[in-house]
Amino acid sequence: MKSIVDSDGVLRCAHCEDSYLHRTETRHYLRVEDAKVGTLIVTTTDGGYTKENASMICNPSARRSGLTVEFWCEVCGESTMLSLSQHKGVTLVNLYPAPYIACD
Ligand SMILES: [Zn+2]
Repeated sequence: MKSIVDSDGVLRCAHCEDSYLHRTETRHYLRVEDAKVGTLIVTTTDGGYTKENASMICNPSARRSGLTVEFWCEVCGESTMLSLSQHKGVTLVNLYPAPYIACD
């Protein structure tokens, strides 16, 4: 498995692997196990909001709570997503090109 950070602990772009990433949005998905809806807490560079009974379709965890952090790359202009998800008692960390889907 490829590391999501370099030897200095710097996060790298999922597209071009450069290090000039800027956080643009965080999404915290909170739900009771297997619930189709839950609480979504979103923060952006302009502020944030909380939405109750929100869809969990973009939750990185298929059955539990999850967290995503989106970054914009200064070099290639693409978006990268860092996610934390829970699955069968372990926490998974992933870095991948950000999906282009509406999540609200
Ligand atoms: Zn990039």
